[in-house]
Amino acid sequence: MVSKERLMERFTRMRKFTGEEDGPGIYRLAFTDADWQARNYLAGLMREVGLVVREDAFGNVIGRWEGADPSLPAVMFGSHADSVPNGGNYDGVLGILAAIETVQSLKEDGFCPEHPLEAVLFMCEESSRFGAATLGSRAMLGELSVDDTRRLKDKAGIALYDVLKGRGLAPDMLGKPLYDGEVKAFFEVHIEQGRVLEHEKKSVGIVTGIAAPTRFSVKLQGNADHSGATPMALRHDAACAAAEIVLAAEHFAAAEQEPPAVATVGVLQIAPGVMNVIPGGAELGVDIRSIDAATKKCVAENLKDAVSEICGRRGVAFEIVPISDERPVAIRPSVLDFLDGICREDGCSYMRLPSGAGHDAMHWAERVPTGMLFIPCRDGVSHNLEEYAAPEDIVAAARLLERVVRAASRKNVTFA
Ligand SMILES: [Zn+2]
Repeated sequence: MVSKERLMERFTRMRKFTGEEDGPGIYRLAFTDADWQARNYLAGLMREVGLVVREDAFGNVIGRWEGADPSLPAVMFGSHADSVPNGGNYDGVLGILAAIETVQSLKEDGFCPEHPLEAVLFMCEESSRFGAATLGSRAMLGELSVDDTRRLKDKAGIALYDVLKGRGLAPDMLGKPLYDGEVKAFFEVHIEQGRVLEHEKKSVGIVTGIAAPTRFSVKLQGNADHSGATPMALRHDAACAAAEIVLAAEHFAAAEQEPPAVATVGVLQIAPGVMNVIPGGAELGVDIRSIDAATKKCVAENLKDAVSEICGRRGVAFEIVPISDERPVAIRPSVLDFLDGICREDGCSYMRLPSGAGHDAMHWAERVPTGMLFIPCRDGVSHNLEEYAAPEDIVAAARLLERVVRAASRKNVTFA
């Protein structure tokens, strides 16, 4: 059975792996001493619970339980343990500790899986150190090249390539998949990092898809005329055009319901930025997300049309500069139904919801049946030292993962 005491004791242990000199909260940037110590602790736990532990050229750690038939594809589950600067002790940590607890609990119950089980710790999930996220999963799947590791540098200018070498790893092996086995299904439990579950008073969320951002900037050029001498009808005010664009982004995203979309203008600069001059220039940074690519595209296209209409009407010149356009991933209906069944059997209160944040699971979801479960975190706060998940929710997450793995490890459970 899942042990609350054991789990909570391990959360307390994980809290100690932080660069103390770096201030409050958890400071466990990828491949730093704190991160490496946490990794060694977790690999030790995997051995302790009876897993055969191996690491790959990027430092990802896999603990394997052969099961009744080692030739079958593995059921894989896990998460990451690195953090953002001054972050929390739950983001990622929940997923890897729940994975280890699942194995320990199944072993104690005398359970024998038919498919092999693999608990996995992914390295470098957060983008905080090298400016790119989920690097461990990408390396495992062959989506990270040697050139990438030379190009990606931290604030001190140290290349990921050299950091990997420094840890005795083998960055020259990257470019082809480091994981050469077969995976039947991948599962990850994680804190929500939003406040939907808390708001809906549900203890568990079944993730329906993982959103990915489309980002572009909009540059506006009007006329920076005198604020006193220019009548309203003769103005080409870039800030007014920007204001309309902000509201248009809100309008078009809110109009998408099933599946939903979100749009945010998180950057808005106006020039010259003085009280007695009409804003002649403006620049907006737009971020649009949905778990559905077509929905996201629809919001982006509507917004771009609106920019053209608003600027035409106001006599303001514009330029739209693309920044990124990433693929969202959908969770397969067969996995959603499977997780529904698990939650019903467990008796927990649950709902389906999209993930606005990216996770290691999104790379697996494109290749193998993949499922994600969320638990609430207080006030939706994450990537912050105030991050908190209640012990009873943590235990529920581990209990559900144990049920998921138990069921998925059976030969007669298949995913379309
Ligand atoms: Zn995370």
